[in-house]
Amino acid sequence: MKFENSEAFAEKLDRQDSLNHFREKFYFPKHTDGSDILYFCGNSLGLQPKTAQDATEEVLEAWKTLAVEGHFEGSHPWISYHDELGVKMAKIVGAKPIEVVAMNTLTVNLNLMMVSFYRPNKNRYKILIEGGAFPSDQYAVKSQIEFHGYEVNDALIELHPRNGEDNLRTDDIIKTIKKHGDEIALIIMGGLNYYTGQVYDMKAISEVGHEVGAIVGFDLAHAAGNIPLNLHQWQVDFAVWCTYKYLNSGPGGVGGVFIHENNFKKDLPRFTGWWGYDRATRFLMKDTFEPMVGAQGWQMSNGSIFSMAGLKASLDIFELAGFDNLQIKARQLTAFLEFLIENLNLDDIEIVTPRNPKDRGSQLSIRVKNNDKSLFDKIRANGVIGDWREPDVIRIAPVPLYNSFMDVYRFVTILDKTMAKGN
Ligand SMILES: *Cc1c(COP(=O)(O)O)cnc(C)c1O
Repeated sequence: MKFENSEAFAEKLDRQDSLNHFREKFYFPKHTDGSDILYFCGNSLGLQPKTAQDATEEVLEAWKTLAVEGHFEGSHPWISYHDELGVKMAKIVGAKPIEVVAMNTLTVNLNLMMVSFYRPNKNRYKILIEGGAFPSDQYAVKSQIEFHGYEVNDALIELHPRNGEDNLRTDDIIKTIKKHGDEIALIIMGGLNYYTGQVYDMKAISEVGHEVGAIVGFDLAHAAGNIPLNLHQWQVDFAVWCTYKYLNSGPGGVGGVFIHENNFKKDLPRFTGWWGYDRATRFLMKDTFEPMVGAQGWQMSNGSIFSMAGLKASLDIFELAGFDNLQIKARQLTAFLEFLIENLNLDDIEIVTPRNPKDRGSQLSIRVKNNDKSLFDKIRANGVIGDWREPDVIRIAPVPLYNSFMDVYRFVTILDKTMAKGN
């Protein structure tokens, strides 16, 4: 599409956008002047669906009126509350329903998956990860290496962009995997890098990883609900994600896990608890363990129903909007943001995120050279919520479910004004 740099054009795009009314289904924080905040932080915490309250109250009501019998009775019995979430998330991540489960939270799940999928031995014990991975992932990975008695300095291989570049080249990733092929036990990368917004070629990484005999997993915290995924087809071994970013489940919302059906072998070690026990015979409370077949066999505790209620509300909205429709709008929104920023023609601005739409999602990381956080604070004071990453990057995530083209236009106007004034 050919964009124009004008308010009228942004308005026109909104009029033509068949998903525009979906923003009415979300609450926006308010700016001091009473208008809606320009919210571009859905990659950190998605906005609250207006239906989240009903979904939560339904759980309160069932608890109030059914008490313990709420596990088996009511419109959404708690014993199977997560089933529907798994089915709906499976569509979003490109998996079979049996390969997906909603449980725990992200870093917990990452550690649990490494219990099953990081099985080092003296020849093959290394973990490959992107350099500058989200800190929680780094801590989890390092703790697993040490837990197994290896040295982080020796066992961790980090991928870094070439000098002067911000993003990893797929060729370089593949070369590194091949180079260390015999030693790599596990490849674990973000599907979409939280800092740069780069989408990694998960299919290619999975293929090459398997060629050299490694297990391949992804952290999809910034990818789930954001970009198209095909985990089953790509033969990814496992993936984990949180649901409070693009999936709008609310703070600390339940995590998501994918385990490829190729891995449903009973002899795969795992940490177990009663909720992973075969549901048909779970309550016989036997002392030998019979896991549920599928990802649900990795559950340990009974579900946090309150944290699932928000996710349920949000996934219903995703289904209404249609993920494919959202993808089309997502690309346009981000491309419009890119176009307007380039139009500013400011030497101090550099877009870090890849320029090819297939290599990114709903996020641009914008480097504001010769500026510091005070610039971001001024932007915030003008009613924009984005995200600042030291030393000089503003992350802006225009989310197709609730952001408009006008939001994007207004943000760039504010950015322009603030940059001009600040220096
Ligand atoms: C958001 C995020 C986390 C957060 O982990 P929690 O366990 O949910 O607190 C971890 N890793 C990545 C890559 C993230 O983007």
